[in-house]
Amino acid sequence: MTSTQPNQNINEGHEDQISCKLVSEIIRSRIKSDKVRFHANDNIADYIYPGELETLEKEVASRVRELLKTLLIDVDNDHNTQETAERVSRMYINEVFKGRYHKQPKVTSFPNDKNLDEIYTVGPITVRSACSHHLVPILGDCWIGIKPGEKVIGLSKFARVADWVFSRPHIQEEAVMILADEIENLCEPKGLGIIVKAQHYCMKWRGVKEPDTSMINSVVRGDFRHDPILKQEFFELVRQQSTVGKNY
Ligand SMILES: [Zn+2]
Repeated sequence: MTSTQPNQNINEGHEDQISCKLVSEIIRSRIKSDKVRFHANDNIADYIYPGELETLEKEVASRVRELLKTLLIDVDNDHNTQETAERVSRMYINEVFKGRYHKQPKVTSFPNDKNLDEIYTVGPITVRSACSHHLVPILGDCWIGIKPGEKVIGLSKFARVADWVFSRPHIQEEAVMILADEIENLCEPKGLGIIVKAQHYCMKWRGVKEPDTSMINSVVRGDFRHDPILKQEFFELVRQQSTVGKNY
């Protein structure tokens, strides 16, 4: 990340042209020139320069207002929806999809001085996301199991990182993989297991309208993958931590 100011690298000699560019176009052109993927579940915070998020928030609000108008909602006279566009924009950028636009919360790792090598699990951690297909909620619980390596991180950090990863439009299978990658980057465990059990409003609120169906998936890496006894111990610890019949 350089300290280049917004537009500077694409501005020279084209100031009139650039001044009418939308901030989303400026950010997109930066990402594309680096040939970086920007799917719904990718974080793009490195490409958003200071001050641009506020401008993006205004641009998104104007688009949501157009959407509401196209849906033939009288946003000028309906007191309930007059500021809906601004609320939805703020909610997307700073709350439910903040994991795309904001940097990863700071997580400090410490050396594993005592050479801890017993496995432990953390959970249930509440995770909240939205499906990439319909942008409706996915709500669930996550359990993380660690066999420590050279580095350790505080227990609460797992919840912060999970929240950051899940606060993007996702499909559950990919969310779990992305969370596993981030945790491996942060503390390089010898073994890692993650289980997510979630309910999808795609299925509860629309479509087949099955209110009680949930999806469970898991990923195991390192020693958890190669050692069946360790893997079994991980699933047993999570079973003990699970809440039965939790609903959203
Ligand atoms: Zn969906």
